This record gives sequence, structure tokens and C-alpha cells, in this order.
Amino acid sequence: MLAVLRKFVLAESPSLEKFPADHCCGIVASEWSKRQARVERLPQMQRGDHLRITWTPQTTRTSGQLLVLGHYDTVYASGSLAKMPYRVSGGKVYGPGTFDMKAGLVQALFAFDALQQSKAPLCKRIVFLWTSDEEIGSDSSRRLIESEARRSDAVFVLEPSLGPRGLLKTSRKGVGEAEIIVHGRASHAGLAPEEGVNAVHELARQIMRIQEWNDPRRGISVNANIIEGGTRTNVIAERARAVVDLRALRIADMRRLEQRLRSLRPGVHGARLEVRGGFNRAPMERKVSATLFARAKSLAAQMGLRLGECVAGGGSDGNLTAALGIPTLDGLGAVGDGAHSTHEHVFVKTMPQRAALLAALLASS
Ligand SMILES: [Zn+2]
Repeated sequence: MLAVLRKFVLAESPSLEKFPADHCCGIVASEWSKRQARVERLPQMQRGDHLRITWTPQTTRTSGQLLVLGHYDTVYASGSLAKMPYRVSGGKVYGPGTFDMKAGLVQALFAFDALQQSKAPLCKRIVFLWTSDEEIGSDSSRRLIESEARRSDAVFVLEPSLGPRGLLKTSRKGVGEAEIIVHGRASHAGLAPEEGVNAVHELARQIMRIQEWNDPRRGISVNANIIEGGTRTNVIAERARAVVDLRALRIADMRRLEQRLRSLRPGVHGARLEVRGGFNRAPMERKVSATLFARAKSLAAQMGLRLGECVAGGGSDGNLTAALGIPTLDGLGAVGDGAHSTHEHVFVKTMPQRAALLAALLASS
């Protein structure tokens, strides 16, 4: 498993760099080509190509499909290996994208081998879909993910688990980004202040209002994290803008937040408000994961492993499949720590365990 992981990690695959991403896609594809599965490379114009591997069991009559979902892109720019080389030390594997989520891709490969070798009597087609732009919002893969999910009875997402115990992610917050733009009127701050409409003042009011929508107990967070506006100190600000991070755990709360944003009205006379954006990934509510998680837990128990669950504050492609109502279990990938940081790593000894768990889930779904 480590030899394959090394190959995947050495092929750096930043979401924003097509050439290296495509190279990594080819490396992953070549591993699958050694197996008896159909490997399709789905060419993309701007992003790395997506990869779809389909395996149809021949022994039985198949009905239905299982989707295993992952991404091979990472948040690290080309050249990051120089600062954070691939290395194995103290039972951990370090390197860009090890934890999020190349070890997950390796586990899927070995889960597949286990299924083949054990001649498990599968009755569903299995599709492994590896995409290239999860870390930047899945614009180029979203439709593909959704159409495969619609054909599937269950989706298994190989995003990293949480913490040293490897908790699965049975619910995820929905994530959005909204922009509040205020249009005011410029005027000389000394000669004709009364003729101006101060966009910065208006924006400040709106920010005070939206921060009251935060409700940590319900899992709602609203944060204006970028603001800008005005031009010079002696000019009444004509324009101001805030970019707001939105998160909610429930679909109803997501809708309410979007509605509240649309119904903001200006307080300063003469100011005009424009609101753009909203949720990009809907919340993954626990009910879409509950049955699959119960099965995973019992399968893990048969292997002598204890499996826990958690709520994730960030979104993944699991949110997309869950939003369609397809049973989705996320966080089935690597166990480790440090996603998106220089100390990103995976616990080596958990890799075969998680591969076995995935194989068992696929064999029993
Ligand atoms: Zn990821």
C-alpha cells in the first residue's frame, strides 16, 4: 500500500494546475488498468481529467450501483514536496495530500483487490469516481458526481476521517458564500457631506445585523470575513462590500439564512443593497448516513474495531450526493491528521483496516 501511496504523492496534483494534475490522474489510472475493471478518463478543458472506474461483477445478475467517491487533487501548489517530502516515520506517512486524500484512493484500490481475491458474491456494479477539483468547489465535476449518485443505491466518500480514532463523518455542515454590496453616493466629506450616502456606514449596519444570526447550538455560523469599501478619507464612501461565510447543519436553516439575506433592507437613506451568492453545498443531514453508519459500525466490530462518528464543519462532495437523498457515508478514507497543513500525515497501520472496512461495506451493500 505504501509503494502505491508513494507514487500517488510524488505525482503532485494541485487543483489549479492542469498539467501536473493530469499526470497524477494518469498514475492513478495506470494502477487501476492493472486490474480487471473498466477505466475511463474523462477529459476536462481547464481542470485535471476525472477518472471513472467501473466494475461489473460477472458471476451474478447485477442490479443497482454503488458509488465510491474521491478526489485526487490537493491544496498544495507544485513544488510543495521540496518543503514537505514524502516520508515514513514513526508509523506515519507524511507528504502533500497523503491524508486528504491519496491514502483513501490507495485503500479503495486494495479494497477492490480484496473483493476480487475473496470472490465476494457482489450483486451491484461498483463505480469509483476520482475527481480533480474537490478542493476548489467541484465546479467541473459536480454534474458528473450528481449523475453517478442518482444511479447509485449508496455513496461511500473517501474523505479523511476525524481525529486519532478515525471518526466517520455522518453529518456535514452546508457551506456557502454570499456577497453584500452597498451602493451609496460619493461626496466631499468636508464641503458637502449631506449630499453623500455613506456605503461603509450602511455595510457596518448590515454586518451588525447578520452576526446576530449566528447560532452555535443549531450549527449555524455567519461570518463576514472580507470587507472593503471607500476610496479616500475625505470622500464619502460610494461603495462597500462584504464577503460572508455561511454554514448550517440543517437544510431548513440553510433556506432560512438565504431568505434572510435576500430580505436585507438598507437603513441609511439613499443606500442600495445588492446580495449575491448563497450556499454552494447543502448540509448533509445525519439521516442520510444513519443506516450506512450502523452497518459500518457492526462490520468494524466484527473486525475487532470500534467505529465512532462526528459532525464536520466543512463540506465535501458527500454534501452533493446527500442533497439528492442518496444514502451517503463520508470520512471513510484515511486516519491521520493535519489536512491542508505542512504536517499532513496518515497512520500506516490503519490503512489495511480501512481498506478492509470499505471492502466489507461494498460486499454487504
Ligand atoms: Zn478532501
